[in-house]
Amino acid sequence: MRAIVKWKKGDGFVELREVAKPVIDSEDVLIKVRAVGICGTDIHILHDEFNYRPPVIMGHEYSGEIIETGEKVKGWKVGERVVSELHTGACRVCRLCRTGNSQICPEKRPIGSGTDGAFAEFMKVPSWLLHRIPEEVSFEEAALTEPTAICIHSILEKTGIETGDFVAILGPGPIGLLAVQVVKSASTSYVLMTGTSKDVNPRLKIAGELGVDYILNVDEEDPVSKVKQLTNGEGADVVVEASGSPLAINQAFQMVRRGGRISAPGMTKEEKVETPWNMGIMKGIEITLPFSSGYTSWEKALHLIVSKKINVNSLITQRFSLKNWSKAFSLMEKGQVIKALLIP
Ligand SMILES: [Zn+2]
Ligand SMILES: [Zn+2]
Repeated sequence: MRAIVKWKKGDGFVELREVAKPVIDSEDVLIKVRAVGICGTDIHILHDEFNYRPPVIMGHEYSGEIIETGEKVKGWKVGERVVSELHTGACRVCRLCRTGNSQICPEKRPIGSGTDGAFAEFMKVPSWLLHRIPEEVSFEEAALTEPTAICIHSILEKTGIETGDFVAILGPGPIGLLAVQVVKSASTSYVLMTGTSKDVNPRLKIAGELGVDYILNVDEEDPVSKVKQLTNGEGADVVVEASGSPLAINQAFQMVRRGGRISAPGMTKEEKVETPWNMGIMKGIEITLPFSSGYTSWEKALHLIVSKKINVNSLITQRFSLKNWSKAFSLMEKGQVIKALLIP
């Protein structure tokens, strides 16, 4: 089968290869991949800015159809439409796994970086990680379940949103644009979103269509003073950091109100980011750094997608074949697409 493989450590070293079709173990299912999104993490892997074990087939934001089940698999059958969490290799016996936090189990070797992923015609997945795609949801829409679950976990489950909160979302990438919808689905909050001049089209334009109350171009306006101005000098109740920019991370500390919350659903490519730590302490803020997502956030994501509270279609701007992966990656990097899908 054909697959996009990161075959060696370092910047680059990604290519479309002919590889063997996966062979399933007794607790696995074999999946025919129907759609798979390109994530910021994939760009980080391309440039050697994220952990991975080469050679590895990339891709983790996928949907597909079960075409074979291992002999110990219970509750799943051939033909079912599925997505899955990424925690392959999680031990299922450690304290973290047993408390519903397999996403941070030290044994985990995630799909698409630690173990073979979905930029391929077929992939294998342990059945305990599967979730059913509701009938009304297309394969393309379902491919966005994973980033939606990340926003639900970090914002609704960990940080919490209350009616009337002023929420500043920094960065209008796919995570930022899903975060807007997650916040709006849960509450009547006022949402401000920031971006740069290169985000004006299409990202900030779509932000407007999704109901963002105030859109701010940081190249033209200072986001900290604008947030203060819009909140009678208090600052934002919640800041969602979805840009990965060290400058924005610092601004998050400055624009959050005393006693406010900062949530970071996305990563930064920097090894270290200097922050005004004491300012954070003096303001008594809560910072949530939840990595990935778990079972409950996946079920909630599918519920919000099927009930149309989250419009994932508006974020799917382009589709490519596996063969054209590098074109898709470079458009993603330039911010000219929101979510590009590969259709194997
Ligand atoms: Zn992702
Ligand atoms: Zn574990």
